[in-house]
Amino acid sequence: MNRETHTHNQKDPACLEVFARLSDYIDGELDPVDYRHIEEHIADCPPCIEFLRSLRQCVRASHAIEGRGECPPVPPEFEARLKAAWQDALSRRAGA
Ligand SMILES: [Zn+2]
Repeated sequence: MNRETHTHNQKDPACLEVFARLSDYIDGELDPVDYRHIEEHIADCPPCIEFLRSLRQCVRASHAIEGRGECPPVPPEFEARLKAAWQDALSRRAGA
């Protein structure tokens, strides 16, 4: 029996995909299709919005300081905070 009707749950792994591509997204290096896919996801995902904002600030700051577009890897502490925010958002969405 293949009942693949739980499409809503597929939003969770989408987060990881979005996270992995956010730097390309900011640099404008994504295909228009991927770009739109990410924008649509972010519009409905507070943790991703927060992450994107932080990443943008980081990119901007590194531009201002050194004229480079490089951004250091996400600090483990920040990543842990994000995951907590994520789980909170996801459990609220899944919560019955
Ligand atoms: Zn997300």
